[in-house]
Amino acid sequence: KNINHSFGYGYGDLLLQAVAQRLLESFPEEILVTHLAADEFLLLVPFTEKESIQKTLDFLRTLFVRPFQLRDRRLYITASSGVIEDATYTDFDLEALIQKAHSALNQAKRLGSQQCAFYTPVLDQHTSARLQLEGELREALDNEEFFLVYQPQIDMRLQQITGVEALIRWQHPKRGLVSPAQFIPVAQETGLIIEIGAWVLQTACHQMRQWQQQGVAIPKVAVNVSGVQIEAGTLLATLDSALQQNQLDPSLLELEISEDFFIHQADTVLQTLTSIREQGVKLSIDDFGTGYSSLSQIHRLPLDILKIDKSFIDQLAHQDTAIVQAIIGMAKALDLEIIAEGVETAQQAGALLDMGCSQAQGYLYSPPLPLEALADFIKQ
Ligand code: C2E
Ligand code: CA
Ligand code: CA
Ligand code: CA
Repeated sequence: KNINHSFGYGYGDLLLQAVAQRLLESFPEEILVTHLAADEFLLLVPFTEKESIQKTLDFLRTLFVRPFQLRDRRLYITASSGVIEDATYTDFDLEALIQKAHSALNQAKRLGSQQCAFYTPVLDQHTSARLQLEGELREALDNEEFFLVYQPQIDMRLQQITGVEALIRWQHPKRGLVSPAQFIPVAQETGLIIEIGAWVLQTACHQMRQWQQQGVAIPKVAVNVSGVQIEAGTLLATLDSALQQNQLDPSLLELEISEDFFIHQADTVLQTLTSIREQGVKLSIDDFGTGYSSLSQIHRLPLDILKIDKSFIDQLAHQDTAIVQAIIGMAKALDLEIIAEGVETAQQAGALLDMGCSQAQGYLYSPPLPLEALADFIKQ
């Protein structure tokens, strides 16, 4: 999927063919290679000696060191492997084996890139828990189990609120409050984030419009947008309808996009972001410092605001100011507004002010708040 977005449609299929070809050419006949689904392959390895599995894995690792040459592009790929060992030589239940291999593969992917995992029964519990969460997430929208909380963004110098960030919450009928850190990744992998994200945008715009009509002094609302929503190609339409339906001035809305999304930015993505910004909606790069984007990339992106990730603000507690100082310098050179995330202590706030960063978000000022509590916060 990412390949197609980065290089244009058709590359994904070409790459898949090239990978299949290399696998088939490289393994001896007694190892059976088949295409399983999407980007997954199944290898059946007869093992006469205990080491044959490990040998196969080692060999697999060397297989993708060489790049793939596709038309005018040179592409590198990485592979994750899940292994199930089975001692039955005949009459084995292939479907059950594949399912177990899948559990192991999912575990390998959880471990990081280019990892390998062996099947154990515990992994089935992971898989079924995950499937259950997926099912419940599908119903959560219909059952109106989501709500938004709003975290104030503060100008530390003027002691004023400059905006709020909308953060989603899931009130599950049995599990209680489920953290977005738990369900957003699942929503992204299943594509449910497209619908959920549309709901967030619609709800946040509606709320912003209400604040305006009630004369509440909230200058803007920031909404988190997942890369999946942008890649799906429906964000522009979703955004238009949220703004239109609520008669909201686009300049009162900001979209936050995490830095790690920009690692494989494609021209189509840039076009989408550029046209969003041309409508007057502000764009911010979230979790900055965690995604390894290069200066030359940042420079090309249509951005208004940079949010320094909490992990760097944490370092300020240890008088470790060099990186934050460098990020602030870069943001200023690129003419971006800066917001520090996760400010928890007066010491961090002081250090940020000294370095020329005056906007912050964090528990020092306020946690994310439900509507009534936010109203109280603003009256203070
Ligand atoms: P994020 O966008 O980086 O949001 C900031 C997170 O840091 C929030 O966690 C917030 O509650 C927490 N936080 C704020 N100040 C402090 C502080 O001083 N100390 C500490 N320890 N934490 C602080 P939350 O609400 O649990 O959200 C986690 C992540 O889930 C968000 O990270 C964002 O990536 C994602 N998320 C939340 N709502 C949405 C949404 O509507 N759409 C999408 N796509 N992602 C969302
Ligand atoms: Ca955010
Ligand atoms: Ca963030
Ligand atoms: Ca974060």
